[in-house]
Amino acid sequence: MESINGKTKVCGLIGNPVEHTVSPMIHNTLAGMTEKNLVYTPFFVKEGYLCDAIKGAYALDVVGLNITVPYKSEVLQYAVEVDKLAAQIGAVNTLVRTVDGYKGYNTDMPGLYRAMSSENIKIKNESIIILGAGGAARAAAFMCAEAGAACIYILNRTIEKAKTVAKEVNNCYGENTVRSLLLSEYEALPNRKYLAIQATSVGLFPHVNDAVILDKEFYDKIHTGYDLIYRPAKTKFMSLVERSGGKVYHGLKMLLYQGIIAYELWNDISVTQDMALHVYERMKEEMDVR
Ligand code: NDP
Repeated sequence: MESINGKTKVCGLIGNPVEHTVSPMIHNTLAGMTEKNLVYTPFFVKEGYLCDAIKGAYALDVVGLNITVPYKSEVLQYAVEVDKLAAQIGAVNTLVRTVDGYKGYNTDMPGLYRAMSSENIKIKNESIIILGAGGAARAAAFMCAEAGAACIYILNRTIEKAKTVAKEVNNCYGENTVRSLLLSEYEALPNRKYLAIQATSVGLFPHVNDAVILDKEFYDKIHTGYDLIYRPAKTKFMSLVERSGGKVYHGLKMLLYQGIIAYELWNDISVTQDMALHVYERMKEEMDVR
């Protein structure tokens, strides 16, 4: 980033809380590398102030915003237009300034796809298990359906939520694209090897010894385990997959790529793989992730 002057453009993050975010590091590093006169800053927005915050940001000529917990769904009503993918998922994490207001996008889903592709993890024709049925699991389910997975099983503690996600995805991609099960029903999974995406909040720091399923028989079905959690860098889920001989990944690259895709949308540029890896090294240092 150049030094701040009269031509500096502003981007930012709206959420509650925002103080532990690494997004400013991602975007300000990218601004420096791509020689953009742009600064990215977190904005803490109190409950009940989302509409005011977005109107205010537009009035202040803010060029782009990321939206995080708890506003990813509520923000849809304040966008003048919502990208098809974000509308399907029902969550917006990026706003891009247009002449009439902000357009909403979801970069979590393509971020996860790019993160997996960068590790050569294949989704097309794969059998996939998704643990969880919250916002991240829903994005993952749409991503896997869009990328041509052979079959997707959503396992969740609350079966109604898993059924809802399955219905939403199946409405877009066809009956039986996604099937839902309770976590405790994993034995009903057809006998084959799966790519498993861990999309619950169980195992998140400081509860590092927790995982939604502990039984070895479950982990014996998994050839690759991808945990969306990145704090800790090795979750209990990842250790259990490894113990059964599977390959494991944490979710820091997903965080990297959702940021990069937002940055590309705001600046209408492509971030090179070298730049992405440079930012990733800085993220790992800052977050003490190996
Ligand atoms: P949500 O709150 O929307 O969903 C939480 C999920 O975890 C639900 O499926 C919930 O089940 C399940 N869960 C919570 N507690 C338990 C428990 N004790 N036992 C069993 N299941 C439980 O969260 P998100 O979908 O937004 O996020 C999920 C995870 O993904 C988080 O850890 C988050 O950090 C991570 N994430 C990572 C990203 C990245 O860039 N790497 C991006 C987004 C999220 P139930 O429905 O039964 O309540």
